Amino acid sequence: MKKIAESERIIGHYRGAEAGPLVVAIGGIHGNEPAGVLALERLFDMLEDEPRINPGFNFKGDLLALRGNLEALAVGKRFIDTDLNRIWRPLDGGPEMIITSEDRELHELLAAIETAVEEAPLSELVLLDLHTTTASGGIFAITGDDAPSLSLAAEMAVPVIKGMLSGLQGTTLHYFRGDHFPTNLPVRAVSFEAGSHDDPVSVDLSLAATVNLLRALGCVREEDVNTYHDDRLRQSANNLPRLTELVYVHHVSHDGSDGFRMNTGYRNFHPVTKGDIIAKDNNGDIAVPADGYLLMPLYQQQGDEGFFIVRDYVFTSAF
Ligand SMILES: [Zn+2]
Repeated sequence: MKKIAESERIIGHYRGAEAGPLVVAIGGIHGNEPAGVLALERLFDMLEDEPRINPGFNFKGDLLALRGNLEALAVGKRFIDTDLNRIWRPLDGGPEMIITSEDRELHELLAAIETAVEEAPLSELVLLDLHTTTASGGIFAITGDDAPSLSLAAEMAVPVIKGMLSGLQGTTLHYFRGDHFPTNLPVRAVSFEAGSHDDPVSVDLSLAATVNLLRALGCVREEDVNTYHDDRLRQSANNLPRLTELVYVHHVSHDGSDGFRMNTGYRNFHPVTKGDIIAKDNNGDIAVPADGYLLMPLYQQQGDEGFFIVRDYVFTSAF
């Protein structure tokens, strides 16, 4: 077991004694969401201490942890020029593809990930993208709708949202699901929302979700994982719907020119009924178009979506 890289971009690259999955964990893709970065830094401290405290400790595979938007993290803003989690695409067209500050960040992230994919003796590639929201009230995971990613998210013991990729473009999840890496091995991708931006608990929950994901993948053994992480996630997920699907995204103008303003007091998973007035813009009141739960109501200046509506997922299989 050893740490094989560290830099401003790379929180750490840890390689276990045994080959296994390559887990790419990213914190701070949005610069006003430092909780994921702090959690991954703490995880690397734990990985360094663990073999001394627990001599039987074993790690299988590689863990590459990255800081997402360095410039935006330095100033505590969601982004500098454009949302880094809406522009993921191959940058193989050369330097003319790199225009914005976020293009540069993407270029460096892709370089670090591609190097690890080429060098790691991987059996599977897994992305974990750590985020927080402006609203409080709920943790959840977002995945592609492929069964392997959904089951991985479910094993993290957190509520799971299906169908989010259809409502967004250019996210880390789209890129990892999009066959862009020179590997024929399976690729799974999960993003985790750990609560509100500045709540210190969001760091603990990001760490707990990451540890649970490593356990679900077999990178760390069940007996080496403290049940504290499960308890922490269960407490926060208590009474939240386990599996929901996206039914509506309210897009807002990139530059704020539509005057979107969320009414106060809404939280993640706030139940709403069709017709409820929950926000305003220059055209007047904005009503909810369907029954369900509100997700990620926007209470900050920067952002491309005002809110999302999800509803309980109903299995329609004949079995
Ligand atoms: Zn985010």
